[in-house]
Amino acid sequence: MNTLYRPELLYSDGRLMSNGELLVSETGKILEISEKTNDSSTRVVDLPGKALLPGFVNAHSHSFQRLIRGKSESRLASGSDFWSWRGTMYHAANRLDPQDVYDVARMAFLEMVLTGTTTVGEFHYLHNAPDGKPYEDPNLLAKQVLAAARSVGICIVLLRTAYLRSGFNLPRDSGQIRFFESRSAFLENMDALIQEFRNVFEVSFGVAPHSVRAVPLSDLKEIVGWNRALNLPLHMHISEQVAENAACVREYGLAPVALLNRERILDANFTGVHAIHIDPNEIDMLAEANATICACPTTERNLGDGIFPADCVLNAGIRVALGSDSQAQIEPLEDARQLDYHLRLQRQKRTILDQIAAKPLATTLFECATIHGARSLGLHCGELKPGANADFFTVDLSDPSIAGNSADDLLSILVFSLNRSAVHDVVVNGRIILQDRRHPLHDEIVARYQEVHHKVWRTERLL
Ligand SMILES: [Zn+2]
Repeated sequence: MNTLYRPELLYSDGRLMSNGELLVSETGKILEISEKTNDSSTRVVDLPGKALLPGFVNAHSHSFQRLIRGKSESRLASGSDFWSWRGTMYHAANRLDPQDVYDVARMAFLEMVLTGTTTVGEFHYLHNAPDGKPYEDPNLLAKQVLAAARSVGICIVLLRTAYLRSGFNLPRDSGQIRFFESRSAFLENMDALIQEFRNVFEVSFGVAPHSVRAVPLSDLKEIVGWNRALNLPLHMHISEQVAENAACVREYGLAPVALLNRERILDANFTGVHAIHIDPNEIDMLAEANATICACPTTERNLGDGIFPADCVLNAGIRVALGSDSQAQIEPLEDARQLDYHLRLQRQKRTILDQIAAKPLATTLFECATIHGARSLGLHCGELKPGANADFFTVDLSDPSIAGNSADDLLSILVFSLNRSAVHDVVVNGRIILQDRRHPLHDEIVARYQEVHHKVWRTERLL
């Protein structure tokens, strides 16, 4: 039976309607968005005092890094830059057994759902056993992450990652032994995983060569060639750090984006994660290729990566998606608003991204958190349109963080001030996974996560 949702306010195409309703099929697809009618031949869900909006799409997550939240905020523990921060991250990565990987991923995904996120793109590079050898099933940990997403109810795109070396002219880093595969093993494992899950609707896949640093060009070209037949989303970290660009120039004579452009790797399936240190020519290359950039501002500020040039990128017509990345925070709209806030601090001006493509600032930022993420992951969600997946959330219009609102100003209030306490219900593929702010597995997920946290950190006095 179809279900008709009748909220007080309904998001549609960048604005809130006060008399709209949303019709969802039994199979979890949006059938229609329309003005309210008196037709009650379907099941009706009245939502007085609520606004209904498309769910957020988190296009770049490493779920296991939820474990290092707060653990790297000391020079004694993690040094003072991105490169030394990785030591803390490797510490956590190397202490997890398969059950832990599942428990930590569930915690990260639950937290995402509590913020109104309905889809996650999980950039997954934890492949091997702690001794660096593949498990009997080399996809065991990928399957643990997929099982975690299905347990929580969030839609997942597993961006299975190729991680082939530590870097140009670098010996293998012992902290990365759980990540390494050969190119042929990566392709075999990826293929097996896709085959096994081909009939599971809420699970899909993307290809993720980790970075130019971790995947030599010859292997990258093979992987990209392999993907051409499948046409899956292709995600790569690019230009997050100045030193990463410098190493790429030393090895290939070009910065990462220019290199990928020369090799014709940039296209509409390509998403470059971070892309902070890119020049105007590289911005043109990404725009010309119709590629997406996934910015992760809450992580980038935490790691001291630099400021993403959102104005230049958006003005060039490039789609910007968002990701929680290291899980320093899981707040999709905090990532969205930081796109503008970081530039405000840098320029000593306000509302830098307003009126790009003639859109209000709040609409531009909201689309980064929704529809651009969906596009990056190759999914039809992130918007409330006929044919799209029925992935959405409701907010309580009287929550203190957003109280005092109307159809005209609610979107701006949400984008700049929504607190997760206002997120009331979350629906994925037409199925309610959060109801009245409560996930049915909440207590179990938190308790299990707490145990893993204690296990991983109990011996670390410095931390
Ligand atoms: Zn990342």
